[in-house]
Amino acid sequence: MRLSRFFLPILKENPKEAEIVSHRLMLRAGMIRQQSQGIYSWLPLGKRVLDKVCDIVREEQNRAGAQEILMPTLQTAELWQESGRYNDYGEEMLRITDRNKRAMLYGPTNEEMVTDIFRSYVKSYKDLPLNLYHIQWKFRDERRPRFGTMRSREFLMKDAYSFDLTKEDAIHSYNKMFTAYLRTFDRLGLRAIPMRADTGPIGGNHSHEFIILAETGESEVFCHRDFVNFDIPADSTDFDSVDGLQSIFDKWTSLYAATSEMHDEAAFDAIPEGDRLSARGIEVGHIFYFGTKYSAPMGAKVQGPDGKEHEVQMGSYGIGPSRLVPAIIEASHDENGIIWPESVAPFDVVVINMKVGDAAVDAASGRIYEALSNAGKDVLYDDRDERAGAKFATADLIGVPWQVIAGPRGIANGEVELKNRRTGERVTLSVEAAINKLA
Ligand code: ATP
Ligand code: MG
Ligand code: MG
Ligand code: MG
Repeated sequence: MRLSRFFLPILKENPKEAEIVSHRLMLRAGMIRQQSQGIYSWLPLGKRVLDKVCDIVREEQNRAGAQEILMPTLQTAELWQESGRYNDYGEEMLRITDRNKRAMLYGPTNEEMVTDIFRSYVKSYKDLPLNLYHIQWKFRDERRPRFGTMRSREFLMKDAYSFDLTKEDAIHSYNKMFTAYLRTFDRLGLRAIPMRADTGPIGGNHSHEFIILAETGESEVFCHRDFVNFDIPADSTDFDSVDGLQSIFDKWTSLYAATSEMHDEAAFDAIPEGDRLSARGIEVGHIFYFGTKYSAPMGAKVQGPDGKEHEVQMGSYGIGPSRLVPAIIEASHDENGIIWPESVAPFDVVVINMKVGDAAVDAASGRIYEALSNAGKDVLYDDRDERAGAKFATADLIGVPWQVIAGPRGIANGEVELKNRRTGERVTLSVEAAINKLA
């Protein structure tokens, strides 16, 4: 992509409405635009990152055996009346009436709809386990939408729903998602800690919020410091191994970790003082085992091996990609801008042509751009006729992990500079070596 053609509406001034750094940087870097309160457009730079986040979420869901579907954003009120949640959900639900005066709503979540899909087709335990997920926009009329896409009214969610015959099987499905979440957040460059979460009226100890530690987080959290260094389950994890996944779960829940709603002061105080971590956090994911909460009222049953009908055991598992983008920025930035982890960077490399119009520099920059693009890299080529300082500032602001800097003096010797955005380290090397290193 040539920067001269790329729609990148960078802001020079710090936007006044932005209270936290990620919101400021997303606006300054031209990633998002607010359309109305808590409702955003994603501009090209932002869309690239959002897509990369979704790709990783999707890969790990698929690895764990979940299957992708796509349910609509609009739902009928009837489904929610069946489950009993239509009246309970309250003002967060955006209720709409269509031209036939039919009560509709913009889905804040999809338990009812997926249960309806399930009950329409699945009749036997032989078709279980089943886990269906989608990545779809949700709407919640938040009381206080704020911090840009961190807490917006319209937001993207990956929500998965598992169906099993027995509670035991459902716990295995839960452990699959638990493990997939550890891997997902790690691949996004985040350290997310699973914390015991409130299960509400359903009870049981099977709900975890995945929280990343950040000063600007809205939740108050308490946990054992060792979580910061726990190992992440490997690529080779066998998701069919019941014991294997249970031991991952046991390890990651062996130490104290809770949000303020679930906080047990006595248990926390029992941790040696130096190991106690009391901090603020951002909820980036939430998983839930809720048994027959929806299958019972909605009549989602399967025939078991005993020939009898059983209400299916369910769980649901949410991740917020549009919240993860600012969460990653909160965790990774400096005074000059964003520092993307390579896994979600909008571009892998930016080639900075320091003297557009100089035949040798143009040729060398163009060659690097082409070679890296041909090697399958996402390359941004800063071919604008701009001051070097402005180019450096843009490259730093948008946080591309590697910068290749081509200027007349270096190119005269066949050399460019390679700068690492995270460390700030710069090395001079030949054009060929730079291509080889990055390709
Ligand atoms: P919160 O406590 O922040 O209001 P929640 O507990 O209501 O979130 P869940 O119903 O657990 O959210 O939804 C699953 C995930 O969806 C959350 O963990 C979060 O990543 C994302 N999410 C929820 N609400 C929002 C929002 N308003 N804006 C962006 N992402 C959201
Ligand atoms: Mg909420
Ligand atoms: Mg919450
Ligand atoms: Mg939650």
